[in-house]
Amino acid sequence: MIAKKWWDNFLERSPGYNIEEKRRKLVFYVASYAGGLITLFFSSQHISTQSFSPQLLFLGLLILLNVILSHFVNKKQPFFYTAGLLNGGLMLYLTISGGYNNTGLFWIFPLPIASFILLGYWIGLIFNSILYLLVSLLLLNPDYIQASYSSDDTSRFLASLFTTILLASIGEYFRYRSQTELTEINLERQRQANTDPLTHLPNRRFLETVYLPRLHNQEEQSFPVTCVVMDIDHFKQVNDKHGHDIGDKVLKHIAHLLTQHIRQTDVVVRTGGEEFLVIFPKADLSIGFKLSEKLRQTVEVSPFVMEGTTLDITCSFGVSTALTSDEINAAFKQADDKLYQAKRAGRNCVC
Ligand code: GH3
Ligand code: MG
Ligand code: MG
Repeated sequence: MIAKKWWDNFLERSPGYNIEEKRRKLVFYVASYAGGLITLFFSSQHISTQSFSPQLLFLGLLILLNVILSHFVNKKQPFFYTAGLLNGGLMLYLTISGGYNNTGLFWIFPLPIASFILLGYWIGLIFNSILYLLVSLLLLNPDYIQASYSSDDTSRFLASLFTTILLASIGEYFRYRSQTELTEINLERQRQANTDPLTHLPNRRFLETVYLPRLHNQEEQSFPVTCVVMDIDHFKQVNDKHGHDIGDKVLKHIAHLLTQHIRQTDVVVRTGGEEFLVIFPKADLSIGFKLSEKLRQTVEVSPFVMEGTTLDITCSFGVSTALTSDEINAAFKQADDKLYQAKRAGRNCVC
């Protein structure tokens, strides 16, 4: 059985995942540019008056700096988290200071919604809950804050902020769940489409649509690549003598041996009937030849044993090396030719 983790290295994430990233980015840009500019605008309006707040100006500048810097870096996650934190800072600052004429609370409502999207569901939930508690504590202890709110304002505000967080959290939770489930279903479908159902090895489709494009894109890290075409010797006789079911079990036995005896970076594909393709990245011809010889010996000394039946199985191998990704198809062809040479040379050998 192929480890699920192994597949995850190869399979593309669902398109839903990319849309999710777009949603996050868009919210990040809108929240940061709009939030930053509005904050700067309000703080600068009072720059020469008593109600000027350097803290608000500073927060606005930080929000803008964070989003501007993010354009120069590929990995956006740290910027999303920073924006979430600044969001929280803004929320606390607005509560404490009251903003202009104690209108600060109005600006708090969009912030938890943005935090959910920026931080993801679980972190967003914890973050928003903590902030809600802090804001409640501050409002219920008016001595600690500069702003003065009427008790009616405070109670209505806390109730409606709670409702906003609750609704946002329900909406986010179900969106998060449906997205994770769709991603899982999509990955499972891809896994199935790329797996041979009998041996659970990757199949030809995997080779052509996933693995070869990957090799092509990672030419430096992968080449030289040694390709090995291997074929079970006299397999038809196994079927004829012992039946198709035993034949199937022999195929599984060989697939298991192969996967147990290759390196982590190597790949075994079931390309057809009793024929397999082993790919050794970063292996020149002499290394590839040695690895193939090791596989040949492993198969030779590991007979298939079942229900009192012991079958000695051997395989023939054709080996060829591609130095660049342009040579890969020619290498497959040559490895195929070499396999026939191995068969003509009496089988159970590496050519
Ligand atoms: P050689 O040493 O020249 O390779 O001889 P061979 O008998 O292995 O080769 P041949 O191509 O004549 O026969 C391959 C056989 O593999 C024929 C087919 O019935 C059998 N086969 C192909 N796919 C499967 C499968 O999925 N299960 C079983 N049990 N047999 C299969
Ligand atoms: Mg054969
Ligand atoms: Mg064959």
